[in-house]
Amino acid sequence: MFELNVGQDLPWKSPEEVGQEMRKYVALGPDFVKIGASGDGKLVNSEIGQDAVLRFSPEQLREMAKAVHDAGKIIQAHTTSAEALRIVVESGFDMTQHCAFTGPVPMYEATIKLMLDRKFYCVGSAGLPAEPLPARSSVTTIEVHGVESIPDADRDASVLDFVGLCWGGANSIATAVLGAFPIMFGLSFWRSRTHRWFVS
Ligand SMILES: [Zn+2]
Repeated sequence: MFELNVGQDLPWKSPEEVGQEMRKYVALGPDFVKIGASGDGKLVNSEIGQDAVLRFSPEQLREMAKAVHDAGKIIQAHTTSAEALRIVVESGFDMTQHCAFTGPVPMYEATIKLMLDRKFYCVGSAGLPAEPLPARSSVTTIEVHGVESIPDADRDASVLDFVGLCWGGANSIATAVLGAFPIMFGLSFWRSRTHRWFVS
């Protein structure tokens, strides 16, 4: 809906307008709808990306659910807090992703009861832990440190990472090209090795 419809103006709209936008979106023919009831990521002072921040009011969510149900489709939500989970269940949603992720607060007993009563699908969604874990480094993680000294807690490189770094640095295309020159100029492989040892 963000890309095809109203974009980031959606949360600013009244419940009725949100419902109208949802009707327009559902008319485009999606199989189901998933909306972000709360933010993503760490608690940082930014306009988006906060687990405990609710993006929509219960009234807006109710209008969305109504619009999607009128089209005979399922509406699910991205929730990352006990409160977000509560309001989507109460607003008539069908399911939620990452319902096990409620930050430092457990799911409310009343919400669990309501989920059971309504046969609400609570998907624990692997990958999001019940408690936020410190970010682990992987090839897809963006380095957040610059030239400053990296705090000890964030240092997780091993000797193997260092070996990889050296191996990669020593075996670049430039090395291969430069290494090919002596042979291209007529030296044998072994003589080109000695040449490199003595000259470079
Ligand atoms: Zn999600």
